[in-house]
Amino acid sequence: MSPTKPHSTPWRNWSGAVRFTPQTFATPSSVPELQSLVSGVAARRGQLRVVGSGHSFTPLVQTPDTLVSLDKLSGIARIDGHVGHIYGGTQLKPLGLELARRGFGMTNLGDINKQALAGAVSTGTHGTGATLGSISTQVRGMDLVLASGDAIHCSATENAEIYDAARVSVGALGVIAALDIELQPAYRLKLIKRAMDLDDCLAQAPDLARLYRHFEFYWIPHTRRTLVKLMDWTAEPESARGMTTAVELLVENGAFGMVSRLARMNPDWAPGIARFIGKVTKSDESTMVADCHRAFSTARLVRFQEMEYELPAERGPDALRELAEHVERRRVLVHFPVEYRFVAADDIWLSPFYRRDSVAISVHQYVGMAHQEYFAAAEAIFRNHGGRPHWGKMHSLAARELSAMYPRWDDFQRVRKQLDPHGLFSNTLLQRWFGD
Ligand SMILES: Cc1cc2nc3c(=O)[nH]c(=O)nc-3n(C[C@H](O)[C@H](O)[C@H](O)COP(=O)(O)OP(=O)(O)OC[C@H]3O[C@@H](n4cnc5c(N)ncnc54)[C@H](O)[C@@H]3O)c2cc1C
Repeated sequence: MSPTKPHSTPWRNWSGAVRFTPQTFATPSSVPELQSLVSGVAARRGQLRVVGSGHSFTPLVQTPDTLVSLDKLSGIARIDGHVGHIYGGTQLKPLGLELARRGFGMTNLGDINKQALAGAVSTGTHGTGATLGSISTQVRGMDLVLASGDAIHCSATENAEIYDAARVSVGALGVIAALDIELQPAYRLKLIKRAMDLDDCLAQAPDLARLYRHFEFYWIPHTRRTLVKLMDWTAEPESARGMTTAVELLVENGAFGMVSRLARMNPDWAPGIARFIGKVTKSDESTMVADCHRAFSTARLVRFQEMEYELPAERGPDALRELAEHVERRRVLVHFPVEYRFVAADDIWLSPFYRRDSVAISVHQYVGMAHQEYFAAAEAIFRNHGGRPHWGKMHSLAARELSAMYPRWDDFQRVRKQLDPHGLFSNTLLQRWFGD
């Protein structure tokens, strides 16, 4: 039997906004243990959610019943050619280190490396790069434990419909025990960071997105300033890792916590603090060379709430201009930068990038500061430009709106009903999203 225990202290997510106490917390350490756990909960018509590393901003993993962590089902089982067979609970940081030791790297990653692999895949987590899809597009196959307790494999040639549904499925189809991930030979990236004027940045964005493997920028609210990150392959040697720019010191470091606490104590100061950040980052420029497993991730020492929408790429500039105008006109009390990234189209049924090249625009607010009105206004702008919400971040949508955004919505629901007829893997949030 898998180790299970009552969970006496409340579980909380990274941002602290989600807290709950499940009846049972289970950490199976083998697939048969996981299967017997799932069968046991199914037999008594209970409910079960799987947690990765708790970095989603919404109550995705919340359940009054059984919470399962695959922390003990982690690591690389084997690598065949360029495909790694990796357990679902593997966290991205140790995964990157182990892959590097074996001469491999992931194709692309997001801003942090704290997520579990299956958790990142389940919400369509992505990095930036106009020709690069989300992490889910790196998946070539999956081992899933279903509500029946059966373990199955799916890929483009085996259980192909389940494969198309499961690669972004927010834990609704079963437990992802392991994934086959397409890997790259280890590579090195050169990172250039520089400040740019917002209008110049938006005008040059299509070229920069074409010229560099990775391009993204942060817009600092209440200013016309952006901080641009460009990355591309290099054969240059790794450089020492140090904080060199004002943005690194201010935004990606503890000093940002200090100004953020000031903003929380005096929300009226937030626009001034944002303008101060804009001023001190005015002539930022730095370069760094790092192996791929180190190049993508940044420390996020300051906690925040976040909403993100994925928009058709061509609608991004207008959406950001409207957001900037709204922030200025309504003097929105925010100092956290807005992130703007590029993600290539894919064919995964519930992927927000389904069949369209996209830009991802993320708005953030410091924990403890009011985010509701700001996020609601941003959401209205993003939706007006055809945006689809990130599955792991805040948004207000329910089944009626979501179903209209996804051409394969009904197919996903059909597969879900086949695999999980009694809602073993459901919870309150999924009922809202899927209209149960
Ligand atoms: C500081 C920070 C930075 C972030 N940066 C980015 C970024 O750069 N790009 C981006 O796109 N997103 C980003 N996110 C969002 C984050 O990547 C996603 O929310 C991701 O899903 C979190 O992974 P996790 O392992 O914590 O999963 P959790 O939040 O624990 O779970 C997410 C979902 O996956 C399901 N799940 C987890 N494990 C399994 C499993 N084994 N089988 C089936 N279902 C499972 C859960 O049930 C849940 O539905 C960031 C979040 C934070 C807090």
